[in-house]
Amino acid sequence: MTWEEYEKKLRELGYHEKDLAEIKPAFLFAENAHKDEKRKSGEPYITHPIAVSIYVARRKLDTAAISAALLHDVVENQGVEIETLKKKFGDEIAFLVEAVTKVDKVRYRGIERASESLRKMFLAVAEDIRVVIIKLMDRLHNMETLEFHEEEEKRKRIAEETLELYAPLADRLGMWEIKAKLEDLAFPVIYKEEYKMLTEKLAEKKEEKDKYLEKLKPVVELELKKENVVPLRILYRTKHLYSIWKKLVKYEMDFDRVLDLAAMRIVVNSIEDCYRSLGILHKLWRPMPGRIKDFIALPKPNGYRSLHTTVFGPEKKIVDFQIRTEEMDREAEYGVSAHWAYEASGKKKITPKLDKNLSWVRELSDWYRDQKGASHEETMAALKIDFFKDRIFTLTPKGEVIDLPEGATPVDFAYHIHSEIGDHMFGAKVNGKMVPFSYKLKSGSTVEILTQKNKKPSADWLDFAKTSLAKNRIRSYLRRLGISESTKKEHQMMEATVISRDRVGLLKDYSEIFAKLGINIADVKFDAKNKNYLKIVFTFRSKRGLLNSKILTALKSVKGTETIAIREIK
Ligand code: MN
Repeated sequence: MTWEEYEKKLRELGYHEKDLAEIKPAFLFAENAHKDEKRKSGEPYITHPIAVSIYVARRKLDTAAISAALLHDVVENQGVEIETLKKKFGDEIAFLVEAVTKVDKVRYRGIERASESLRKMFLAVAEDIRVVIIKLMDRLHNMETLEFHEEEEKRKRIAEETLELYAPLADRLGMWEIKAKLEDLAFPVIYKEEYKMLTEKLAEKKEEKDKYLEKLKPVVELELKKENVVPLRILYRTKHLYSIWKKLVKYEMDFDRVLDLAAMRIVVNSIEDCYRSLGILHKLWRPMPGRIKDFIALPKPNGYRSLHTTVFGPEKKIVDFQIRTEEMDREAEYGVSAHWAYEASGKKKITPKLDKNLSWVRELSDWYRDQKGASHEETMAALKIDFFKDRIFTLTPKGEVIDLPEGATPVDFAYHIHSEIGDHMFGAKVNGKMVPFSYKLKSGSTVEILTQKNKKPSADWLDFAKTSLAKNRIRSYLRRLGISESTKKEHQMMEATVISRDRVGLLKDYSEIFAKLGINIADVKFDAKNKNYLKIVFTFRSKRGLLNSKILTALKSVKGTETIAIREIK
């Protein structure tokens, strides 16, 4: 596709001269960077970034996102430096390309339980909702051209990753249409035989079902109009294949029950008309109990709104109905990106009375709207994905994701790995640096827990633990030791400050001294005096009878100790 053809396409999608002038340099740069590269299909490589950018443009994203979509593979495939992109296209586009390149590294590790964490990690790494949308469109185009991968193993792995990571992400963003497409593209790759059988069965039933729906449509239309509801559209839906497949598995392969399901969508003018249509349908045909769902009053977490009902229609056939407004229909297709589209057409959205039901998807797009006219930095900050703001995603040194609530400390982290690790923790490192037990962890940090056999948990850890898992494990250990939480009060809180010559194993030696004295360290803080000396502050409780001099003598015996000070604290 030449620039002239591409330009024409973007114009059709509603982009103006000014936008095109902003996008052109990225188009030319990408075209040149990929000029000697071919896709597996034999086509010039540039066809891929062009396709991805057009998908992005269909969602009416800004020119930075479209430029980034054009450039999204130049770093990975052609070794173009991020710095080069920064100089040529500015920070915003360079950031988007870098983030798209980075999320490619978030891989499915085959840890089943980590799947949800993985999706969150992906979102956290993406940082900006536009990155997630570009990545989804990239995956969509790769899935559409997956047949050209010659190795079946590789095709399968990509399809599995699509089902595990990308389709649920699209769903979370309310991009239902994209989710359905991704699933239907992955389905035949993973379940070859099943797919074949299912499409054959469906073809057999299709004619009969289409005839039935054809007859039903004018009946529905007439009945609605009689009650002054004018439908904008009545569509028969073909459920997407993968969802039929999932239903079959759920109903243990009762083909007739699932494949006979006729489905119809009614799009009307207003929310009032949605409810009236529902009433009209129920007057005509008996609804199936338990199948009426009001996602208008209670939208799904991804923002999806609609009324659903299943009725015993003419000839006692079961028919599924979805009833929604134009706006809801658009949102179901475009999800979070629907709001950019609204921006472009200048149409106002969301009636105020529904605002209290807004999901995070809406909150996010509301932020985006509020940022209009704000500075570039402010917009970037607002677009940072902190809709998981109450969760943080940390990593073990091996790269496993540990998903914790905000405010979690190394104590939580240790117990979330294993209770043995928690019970014997004597120190914690974040990104290679020692931190106190009370340290608040941040997303993206790598946390390493140091353990020692005779180290025991302290009752004071209960103040640092944020998760109930960690709290329960600490309590159960204290119970086994016969320490009640209330004995905490009978003990004096102490602080020992030592200044020592730094060396390997220093902390471990101190930790052993405390263990011998029967003292459980509550917290340890570090301060590098200079490159040779370390200041360490141990916080602990001791029985009132225990003499400070005894502790002093014991600590002094540790090699490298220069000065010690002990004091009582409140
Ligand atoms: Mn790509």
